[in-house]
Amino acid sequence: MLPKFDFHVHTIYSDGESAAAAMVEAAEARGLMAVAITDHGPELSVGISPHKIVPMLQDVTAAREDAEIPVLAGIEANVVDADGAIDVDERLIDRFDIIIMGIHRLRIFSREPSELARAYFHAIMKAMEHQRADVLAHPFQLHRYLAPYLSREDIAAFAESAAKRGVAIELNSKYRVPDQGLLEACLREGVKLSIGTDAHTVAEVGRVDWPMAMLKRVGASQEDLILDRFLRR
Ligand SMILES: [Zn+2]
Ligand SMILES: [Zn+2]
Repeated sequence: MLPKFDFHVHTIYSDGESAAAAMVEAAEARGLMAVAITDHGPELSVGISPHKIVPMLQDVTAAREDAEIPVLAGIEANVVDADGAIDVDERLIDRFDIIIMGIHRLRIFSREPSELARAYFHAIMKAMEHQRADVLAHPFQLHRYLAPYLSREDIAAFAESAAKRGVAIELNSKYRVPDQGLLEACLREGVKLSIGTDAHTVAEVGRVDWPMAMLKRVGASQEDLILDRFLRR
């Protein structure tokens, strides 16, 4: 059986309801192997204030000392422009154990899904090229799921780039993305897979039924998971 973990959890430093220690306790109670605290980056209106990043890292360190499972200090960075820049100060980047990045906004005015999908694709390709990121959060989910509007060639190019840059893709419980086709394209290229509930409450931490079922369906093995990269440190 594959190990359960949750590398996408919010706390009171962004729009979560609880402190890191409570989220970690909930993760342990659910039998997870590891958990990552990943509050929203500052660019989002509900994101962490830049001056709160250091106190947040200290809170995670304190929660880790009381924990029986590995607790990673992370952030859900925003991709903020078409060149793929993210909203994490370069001087702080090495203080995070894990960086998950997500697109929550695109600076184009179209409502046309195929145009949004192309813009998303280009922004994420640039971001993977230029940034240190470990995981792509809720891949191709932006108000709706955009991967079906991309060509097979785009999906293949995305998977190839993610594999080359060492960026894992997240199976996100909240949005139930990505779909099986995208997952299989990624697995064929050797892209690592992460699991994230996108929990904002203690009740949501470790609710990984959907990701675990998807992993089973696509025949993923433990070597396909990003987990080992962090357990070995
Ligand atoms: Zn997000
Ligand atoms: Zn999130």
